[in-house]
Amino acid sequence: MRVFSSNQGDAAMARLDKGSDLLESLHELARHLEVHAGAIQVIGALSSLALGYYDQERRQYETLDLPGRWELASAIGNVSMKEGGPFVHLHVVASGRDGRAVGGHAMPGCTVFVGEAHVRALGGSPPVREPDDETGLALWA
Ligand code: ZN
Repeated sequence: MRVFSSNQGDAAMARLDKGSDLLESLHELARHLEVHAGAIQVIGALSSLALGYYDQERRQYETLDLPGRWELASAIGNVSMKEGGPFVHLHVVASGRDGRAVGGHAMPGCTVFVGEAHVRALGGSPPVREPDDETGLALWA
């Protein structure tokens, strides 16, 4: 990963490694930059795509594995704290050769072909994720 720091507060840009897992790379970047609360944007291309859909009735994620090559048209997310470390929550919109897009919660299994990330630390006291009984998710408490 190549990290390009910024002189505008706690922001940086990074080129993610080809073949890396998108979420793993962003977690590594957040740890490297010591971001505990922040915003993330990524564009690029993926060589595999795994999207999550949260089944609100069953209270669990379903994973949709989508092989093939994808444009990473837009990924936005945030960094907060979970279990003592930075945690990245990311949503992805990806498009195929025909320009049609799919989207969802980024799951492990999104493989980077090209990844250009922009991370901005927000400072202050970071939100901390705790189990939420009402939704079954780990939400900001
Ligand atoms: Zn999500």
